[in-house]
Amino acid sequence: MKLLVILLFSGLTISCRGNSSYSLPPKLLLVSFDGFRADYLQNYEFPHLQNFIKEGVLVEHVKNVFITKTFPNHYSIVTGLYEESHGIVANSMYDNVTKKHFSDSNDKDPFWWNEAVPIWVTNQLQENRSSAAAMWPGTDVPIHNTTPSYYMNYSSSVSFKERLSKITTWLSNSNPPVTFATLYWEEPDASGHKYGPEDKENMRRVLKEIDDLIGDLVQKLKMLGLWESINVIITSDHGMTQCSENRLINLDHCIDHSNYSLIDLTPVAAILPKINVTEAYDKLKKCNSHMNVYLKEDIPNRFYYQHNDRIQPIILVADEGWTIVLNKSALKLGDHGYDNSLPSMHPFLAAHGPAFHKGYKHSTINIVDIYPMMCYILGLKPHPNNGTFGHTKCLLVDQWCISLPEAIGIVIGALLVLTTLTCLILIMQNRTSVPRPFSRLQLQDDDDDDPLIG
Ligand SMILES: [Zn+2]
Repeated sequence: MKLLVILLFSGLTISCRGNSSYSLPPKLLLVSFDGFRADYLQNYEFPHLQNFIKEGVLVEHVKNVFITKTFPNHYSIVTGLYEESHGIVANSMYDNVTKKHFSDSNDKDPFWWNEAVPIWVTNQLQENRSSAAAMWPGTDVPIHNTTPSYYMNYSSSVSFKERLSKITTWLSNSNPPVTFATLYWEEPDASGHKYGPEDKENMRRVLKEIDDLIGDLVQKLKMLGLWESINVIITSDHGMTQCSENRLINLDHCIDHSNYSLIDLTPVAAILPKINVTEAYDKLKKCNSHMNVYLKEDIPNRFYYQHNDRIQPIILVADEGWTIVLNKSALKLGDHGYDNSLPSMHPFLAAHGPAFHKGYKHSTINIVDIYPMMCYILGLKPHPNNGTFGHTKCLLVDQWCISLPEAIGIVIGALLVLTTLTCLILIMQNRTSVPRPFSRLQLQDDDDDDPLIG
């Protein structure tokens, strides 16, 4: 008995000591390689990324939000909100009330970002924690008067190496410690637009470069002694599809440019009519069979893309691979922005670290589910959001999750055990009743049964 008490006591002491190492706040690094289409992972070689996944988790498809563009999806990752709710509804926007314009080169006005609270701001408000960012969209803007404690002003000419060096330095020696960090890189998006995803040779070269950057990232974290303790998520904002000069929709063939202001062009055009809305709608409706034309109030519910003043009165959505142009427009060989139900628009997600399982594959989550999962890992209270924490439970080491086939297996297993037990009990009862008297009565029963069986 004494021995048992001693064992219990020492067990408790060890577990308390164990916990004290967890009292350090967990760290999370969120990395985005822009335009990393989910099936690149199946169609090209990624030795470094595959090693990362082997020791971590992979979500093969992340269903992103409509419109499948860069700024909107990056903001959905860090807020868990659909575009109509976080307010970054396109890479090019216009606000009719304030007459303000937003574009990827004019994105610094907090007005555009303040409809939501990104995770780096929430993290920063926690006592004794700070955030750091290397060029994730919005991180160089004082959203709700707060930037990350450490950040870089956006410049596409800053190399990945420099971004990585800055972010890992901040992660390893800052006080209060950086617990949430983001890292953004423009590829393979830029090459996807330039060559088109079907240009295997060029894409192979670019994707190999990205895999090498992932190798550098892991190497750097190992060198700094962060690798075992930090959680790393590698994901992206959208995929890419092939376009062609044979698949053009020319608006100038359908409506005079003086009839409307063009806020955004392709593959989702945002139209602010200068003439009667119905009249403009009628002209556009007849324009091309490879383009859906929606009045704002008729935009399908599944897009969650309606309830925001920055969404224009008419939007045009091109079919996959089709490009909306004006007479003077240049064509890109690859593009994204299309319907978010198209697999070619989906990115992937891989994650590694103490919060995640090792060697686990999952088919799909929504891009808005990433936010509640990140809040959970960091121990932050999430703002109201459109994500579902339950969708990511299977990725996390301390969560109980069960898939449908497993659930069916467990129910069938339980039924088998119950049936076996019931049979055993019945057999035991029969056996114990055999040696008792009145065996003649039982024989009579058997006689009665025989004709029935026959
Ligand atoms: Zn992008």
